[in-house]
Amino acid sequence: MKQVVLATGNAGKVKEIMGMLQPLGWHVTPQTELFQTEAVEDGLSFIENALIKARYACAQTGLPAIADDSGIEVAALHGQPGIYSSRYAGEEANDQDNIHKMLAEMAAVADGKRQASFYCAMAFCRHEQDPTPLIALGQWHGEILHAPVGSGGFGYDPIFYLPDLGVSSAELSKTQKSQISHRALALHSLVEQIKKLP
Ligand code: IMP
Repeated sequence: MKQVVLATGNAGKVKEIMGMLQPLGWHVTPQTELFQTEAVEDGLSFIENALIKARYACAQTGLPAIADDSGIEVAALHGQPGIYSSRYAGEEANDQDNIHKMLAEMAAVADGKRQASFYCAMAFCRHEQDPTPLIALGQWHGEILHAPVGSGGFGYDPIFYLPDLGVSSAELSKTQKSQISHRALALHSLVEQIKKLP
């Protein structure tokens, strides 16, 4: 079996990625089983940060690695919070703090101008110096609600409204979300590229 390290300890992500790569002959090990330090995510884009994390996991283990980086961009906030989504309301901010700040910043923004997108970049590096890493992107469009709705998901899900479905992403089941989210789109695209590797 081919080995790949997953640059996350997030149980949900590990399960999802393992489920897709194991049938293709890859043995997926979360990085938390191999080392405890963390890469310095000082890139300016989702792609750069995903690459930094994948290269770092390669360097720590000598194995190929996959990493992802995601967040939300809001048009009315000129693309903020973007790569700073998890710390929008400060270094120690939790999901509630971030939602609270976003609703405050968006208070004066009218319906019809509240478009937002979740982005996810995934990177696969064969080794630390890999000059041709695989990169996959996923984008999920929605709108920012005026107040939280739903209790599922995490992060900005309760204020991310999906006009086509008429619900917030916090109202989707785990299965539904894992089929249509930015992460799902990026993962499917990455897996298609991995399938074509020699
Ligand atoms: P990460 O790169 O997956 O850790 O995501 C960074 C941050 O973006 C999270 O802490 C959330 O605030 C936000 N985020 C990313 N994906 C999602 C999602 O699927 N739902 C809600 N928030 C998300």
